Amino acid sequence: MIDILKSRQAQVIRNGADTQDAEIACGKVSVAGSVSQRACVFCGSRVVLYPISDALHLVHGPIGCAAYTWDIRGALSSGPQLHRNSFSTDLQEMDVIYGGEKKLEGALTELIAHYHPKAAFVYSTCIVGLIGDDVSAICKRVQEKTGIPVLPVHSEGFKGTKKDGYRAACEAVYQLIGTGDTSSIAPHSVNILGEFNLAGETWILRDYYKRMGIDVVACITGDSRIDDIRRAHGAKLNLVQCSGSMTHLAKMMERDYGIPFKRVSYFGIEDMASALYDAAKFFPDDPSILSRAQELVRKEISALYPQLQKYRAKLAGKKAAIYVGGAFKAFSLVRALRLVGMTTAVVGSQTGDSDDYHRLQEICDPDTIIVDDSNPLELAKFCLEKDVDLFIGGVKERPIAFKLGIGFCDHNHERKEPLAGFVGMLNFAREVYASVASPVWQFAPRRAQAEANVIEPF
Ligand code: SF4
Repeated sequence: MIDILKSRQAQVIRNGADTQDAEIACGKVSVAGSVSQRACVFCGSRVVLYPISDALHLVHGPIGCAAYTWDIRGALSSGPQLHRNSFSTDLQEMDVIYGGEKKLEGALTELIAHYHPKAAFVYSTCIVGLIGDDVSAICKRVQEKTGIPVLPVHSEGFKGTKKDGYRAACEAVYQLIGTGDTSSIAPHSVNILGEFNLAGETWILRDYYKRMGIDVVACITGDSRIDDIRRAHGAKLNLVQCSGSMTHLAKMMERDYGIPFKRVSYFGIEDMASALYDAAKFFPDDPSILSRAQELVRKEISALYPQLQKYRAKLAGKKAAIYVGGAFKAFSLVRALRLVGMTTAVVGSQTGDSDDYHRLQEICDPDTIIVDDSNPLELAKFCLEKDVDLFIGGVKERPIAFKLGIGFCDHNHERKEPLAGFVGMLNFAREVYASVASPVWQFAPRRAQAEANVIEPF
């Protein structure tokens, strides 16, 4: 057992018969001084809107906020690359004293004239919240002057959790929806929400839906274009993957345009197949969509399954820790690890809610540690206690794993391999195997004393 700060104890449970109905504390502001793994409100907004590749993204604040989120995601684009710049108003001491509105208006006007974006997003950071610049008024004025949508993102870093940043991003992007022409949209059409095309996932999913006969109107925001977002209200169904970030947008679209939504996950064989079947069943007027989905799933799984068995034989019995942003991703990861023979010993998320954690309790093995809004010290201690062979997380978890001499799989912003879809499951198995089986871990001081834990290569 490890020591956990008293004020954090209600956010950690150990799964077991006696804790099945236990309520994990979640959705709270992080405990001061615990060095939460969470990012700030601004970062939450920035990562959601970042992949809109033909928009200008201007960070109104000190240069550090822009540097922190510069090129933070893979977010591949099949066209414009404007999103990969991180423009900043670079607020200095004098701007803090006299206000940064003039600087913001000047920067916006100059950037729009130079880059001709389809729209501009202006992010408010902590300091803007403190000095009280009227960002909305400046955006309105520049919009009238330039004729493109200039959208304020009210994401002052200190005003809540990363989840509030997701909400601010949804509010900003929602102003575009409903402003485009929907007359050419096919009757069987969907929007993909909460998929960010970090390493090409959006293209895999678009291909699946195309093979089924379903038109994808907009992916919000992977490989996204302003014109697609403007006509997203013409789709018949919203498929929400990253529920933490996009459920708010889906609910607004349901309220105002009557578009229902379904929560899906594109990670792992079972969840990927269910996502396709759910979309197909939504269009009962054309049963051929479901038969095409079944044929697609059969074909993809028969190609993938024999290869997965190879990795399963090598990875059987290994243990993993998972720490991700949204809990929905954690469900898929627990199931995907089982597919390659591994167990989950630690699982946590930055933004999970009570329902999410109940579901995790149901699907996890007894004695699995389940944790909300964790910090590096806790995660390191849990990994050591459970003696895990792999840590799955993002950029902030990577150093924890490597310092402990544990294999790591990036399932977040910086990965280069697509992990969605059937092909993504194979990439995942390959990456997990390469990391867990690396002979380098036998030299980690912690492991060097124990018997070398080396997996024989193929
Ligand atoms: S918005 Fe605030 S918390 Fe976020 S990066 Fe900038 S200064 Fe830091």
